Amino acid sequence: LFTAVEMAPRDPILGLNEQFNADTNPNKVNLGVGVYFDDNGKLPLLQCVQAAEKTMMATPTARGYLPIDGIVAYDNAVKSLVFGADSEPVKSGRVATVQAIGGTGGLKIGADFLKKVSPNAKVLISDPSWENHRALFTNAGFEVGTYAYYDAEKRGVNFEGFLASLNAAAPGTIVVLHACCHNPTGYDITPAQWDQVIAVVKAKNLTPFLDMAYQGFGHGIAEDGAVIGKFVAAGLNFFVSTSFSKSFSLYGERVGGLSVLCADKEEASRVLSQLKIVIRTNYSNPPIHGGAVVAAVLNNPELRALWEKELGEMRVRIKAMRQKLVDGLNAAGVKQDMSFITQQIGMFSYSGLTKDQMERLRNEFGVYGTDTGRMCVAALNSKNIDYVCQAIAKVI
Ligand code: PMP
Repeated sequence: LFTAVEMAPRDPILGLNEQFNADTNPNKVNLGVGVYFDDNGKLPLLQCVQAAEKTMMATPTARGYLPIDGIVAYDNAVKSLVFGADSEPVKSGRVATVQAIGGTGGLKIGADFLKKVSPNAKVLISDPSWENHRALFTNAGFEVGTYAYYDAEKRGVNFEGFLASLNAAAPGTIVVLHACCHNPTGYDITPAQWDQVIAVVKAKNLTPFLDMAYQGFGHGIAEDGAVIGKFVAAGLNFFVSTSFSKSFSLYGERVGGLSVLCADKEEASRVLSQLKIVIRTNYSNPPIHGGAVVAAVLNNPELRALWEKELGEMRVRIKAMRQKLVDGLNAAGVKQDMSFITQQIGMFSYSGLTKDQMERLRNEFGVYGTDTGRMCVAALNSKNIDYVCQAIAKVI
């Protein structure tokens, strides 16, 4: 049965992790995978999460099946976070939200549903994008192309190219957009540029799918979420996938969601019924724990304030590390202007280093980033920063 099965290539990022784990270099630093570590190099367990879990443990509950679309209080919390609790879409009941297995699950449910409603549509992802975007939509049966995004020479967004790609897309094309903290480049477009993107999306009748995996890591929870309000104001119907992996440091709990903004409440109930079929035929219903924790935090004013504080601290620490990286590279003798690192936002920096340089970083110094030059600045800390700066300076 399996004699003709070919060996699949290793996942580019998780494969790097395996290589890192096997590396015996005592100075090794993992800047490959997109995970936030604190200044001690530890994965944080947020206090708001601990407090919610403590309360939950005090009154242990039996674990029946959840509804197909997840915990009601969780879905409502996601809706309020994404669209605003008092927003018109939430009040009018025209958002269909389901709990999903991480942000990846949200994307997958949306992709499978879209394949049913727009089977012939093409999908455009940014060039470059998070690796899994292409794979997810391809596996859902779509032809996946790219829209221009990164301009390596300019070190920024090729905005004219971006708009031109959207203008050239056929009506109905599904466009996967990074809501904030673009992965892998770290370059976001400005609010004014979003207005231009939205105008083209509307004029060309494209279907926007916003991937929101880093809300709160850019400029703040509300600031990063403001782009959603712009799409609402434009009168568009669209998809938003949510991930709490990073913002709650709950990577392994797989907590995310999918929200679909519909024309009205009746349409939302039809869409929800179809999303539930996608879920039912994939994994039946979601797990309880992570969703219950996030719901407990988001729906309790004190815990929510604590979460916002802790998320703010992660954001501020990453920004400080960006500055330290720029200063450290200068001090280590790098002549070229590296200040672009502080213009980038979120967890990643597209360093501009070549594949050869990234290989040397790994092999000679045990500093792991992706071959594309992407480094996770959220894994830098006061103990490893000097070593990383020295290593980069040597390969440059
Ligand atoms: N979208 C983007 C852009 C991401 O970077 C990630 C996580 N690396 C995800 C989605 C998936 O998030 P999750 O781990 O919650 O599935």
